[in-house]
Amino acid sequence: MSSKSYVRRREFIHTSAAVVFTGCGIQDKLAGPGAIDEAARKVGQLPRRKLGGGREVSVLVGSATWTREAVEAGIRCGINFWHKAEDWEGSVPQAILKNRDAHYCQVCVDRVRGNHETGAIDEEAHYQLVKRAVQRTGLGYFDDVQFHFGYHSAAELKSNRGFVRVFERLKKEGLVRHLCLSQHSYTGNSRVRGGQSAPEILKAVAEDRVFEHAQFMYSYGEGDAWNDFLALARKKGFGTIAMKTTRGAGRMSQDKAFMKDFPAGATPHQALARWLTTRAQLDAAVIQINSLSQFADTCSGAGKALRASDAEAIRKMAVYADREVCRLCNQCAGACQRRIPIADILRYERYARDYGDLARARDLYARLDTRADACVSCESCVARCPQSLRIPEKLAQVHRMLG
Ligand code: SF4
Ligand code: SF4
Repeated sequence: MSSKSYVRRREFIHTSAAVVFTGCGIQDKLAGPGAIDEAARKVGQLPRRKLGGGREVSVLVGSATWTREAVEAGIRCGINFWHKAEDWEGSVPQAILKNRDAHYCQVCVDRVRGNHETGAIDEEAHYQLVKRAVQRTGLGYFDDVQFHFGYHSAAELKSNRGFVRVFERLKKEGLVRHLCLSQHSYTGNSRVRGGQSAPEILKAVAEDRVFEHAQFMYSYGEGDAWNDFLALARKKGFGTIAMKTTRGAGRMSQDKAFMKDFPAGATPHQALARWLTTRAQLDAAVIQINSLSQFADTCSGAGKALRASDAEAIRKMAVYADREVCRLCNQCAGACQRRIPIADILRYERYARDYGDLARARDLYARLDTRADACVSCESCVARCPQSLRIPEKLAQVHRMLG
């Protein structure tokens, strides 16, 4: 199958409208075989690392949310773990279908009858959802079933084993092979009684030894709580994959004033890839990719040492991100009397501004029961924010963009 045949009309539109990327020297083309070959050649074969001491996965893992050309190039470069594979409904890349056992494909499962804060764990509903996803994708099985958003607290992990039973049932039928979760923070969240932070919950998950690995929001500039969890995970043989890693890299690339003084020879995405794969105590990481050019630039840094220019780039990026980009820690949640889901709203801002996916951001924003225009600028949340972000102003900006 030619790489060109992967590009459907809507993907062509998406790719053409994607964030214009500069700095890697490869212009985005219409997914012609030459462009994919060129990108794959620039990147070469990605190194692999054991996930929690077990399976070998590429140090950067892929996602079904990437453009099709980036997925194709990723397969050629040895990316072998695919996040959100359920999104490939009837459109799994042929290279994966033809060599199914060489790839790890993951399915994400959300709580039902509500959102990640208010919804429930429902064994039968989750079981049926995965069964349907196996049929719809044509993958035959999923390697990893992921409890999306994760537990609200360590106590819920202990008291509600519904998701573990879903896994056991599906595994017995040969429909899944490994159990994992993605974990968000619920500390101080007024919609979640007894909510805890993601590192606290993940420490309990790693000690529990039932889940094999976790995905969690982690990037440059995180503090001791995360580093303590990563050290424990490594000791326990618990797998770690960082997600939502860009922390503003997309908007930085578009900010001419910021890029004017950026270290010569470095780019935000490549510096990030180098840092994540050589300096952080992670098994692997996901970086959102919006174009073939961005794939080439980002992934060519995978597993390569941080140069002086990259270290300086990361330092500058951290200053920018601390000033502008919510780290999604949720520490502000309990302060808001209006129960505005601040971290969710600022996560959607990332989809729009850093991933160039305005449609997804608007769709998610429209589904919220309380939106940013409920903010009365009381500023109670600002004192809780470790970055002292100007939350009311940010919410107003996001509402103008997504409302
Ligand atoms: S400033 Fe807005 S978001 Fe922050 S606590 Fe007050 S109402 Fe909630
Ligand atoms: S606004 Fe601040 S406190 Fe709230 S989630 Fe973002 S970084 Fe954390």
